[in-house]
Amino acid sequence: MKVINMSKSVKPVKLQEAKAEVLSLLKVLSDKVDLERKLGVNYLQLDPVIKDSLSSEENVITQPSTQESVCNNFDFYNEEKSVELNKSEKIEELGKLEEQVKKCIKCELCHARSNVVFGAGDPDAELMFVGEAPGYYEDQQGEPFVGKAGQLLTRIIESIGLKRSDVYIANILKCRPPDNRNPNANEIVLCSPHLIRQIEIIRPMIICALGTFAAQTLLDTTESIGNLRGRFFEYQSTKLLATYHPAYLLRNPGDKKKVWTDIKKVRDFLKENASLTRRSITNV
Ligand code: SF4
Repeated sequence: MKVINMSKSVKPVKLQEAKAEVLSLLKVLSDKVDLERKLGVNYLQLDPVIKDSLSSEENVITQPSTQESVCNNFDFYNEEKSVELNKSEKIEELGKLEEQVKKCIKCELCHARSNVVFGAGDPDAELMFVGEAPGYYEDQQGEPFVGKAGQLLTRIIESIGLKRSDVYIANILKCRPPDNRNPNANEIVLCSPHLIRQIEIIRPMIICALGTFAAQTLLDTTESIGNLRGRFFEYQSTKLLATYHPAYLLRNPGDKKKVWTDIKKVRDFLKENASLTRRSITNV
């Protein structure tokens, strides 16, 4: 057997140096991962869900198991999700969650906020609206959808025979992005667990996703809102229908008819499931 005399070579020294360097890099990497995990960063790949699996026949999309994995990975509230809560339990759970979210400093949006905008409405709502993020007035008042877009949302809700107090309204982000810029991917990943937990507690019969960010986040897709709107999907066994955001409608009033068409589908879904609903919807 050939014996290599390492004592005459510089190789062992270089090998040891390289090993030390690799160990040092691994330590840095490990510390970084630990820190980001503590901050709630999700290391699972957020694959587009919808891809080519759009069902043109039934117009219904069931999310694949990757979404469930992502949601489970988001679960740092460590709560029982399978239990259907009664209304007073929902109020209590939402209250506890709100207290946690008010202290949240997971992303940099915490620095400039005046108020956390947690969400508002009936904790036992059958219909839940999910928007994008608080704007100026929402940030000032700590309430979702209170500006002009909010007034339009109120009219949309009333157009199907409901009151604002009958539904629950929340956003993907709970703090206002500066100058109302679009949420970035990191903010969405860090803030989504709050919304996911809200949905788990409320368990609405149907979610109406308002605009690109709400629809794309909840459906884990990059499909455009123009393609997604007006169609029924499923989000964690809850029906979901996407439509345009009221702020978009203020800029593009010509598309109001499309939203009216979409929201009538929500109304019809609630009516068709009246025997299951917690309250009946008035005839409109
Ligand atoms: S936007 Fe969400 S994640 Fe960021 S600080 Fe506010 S509550 Fe926390």
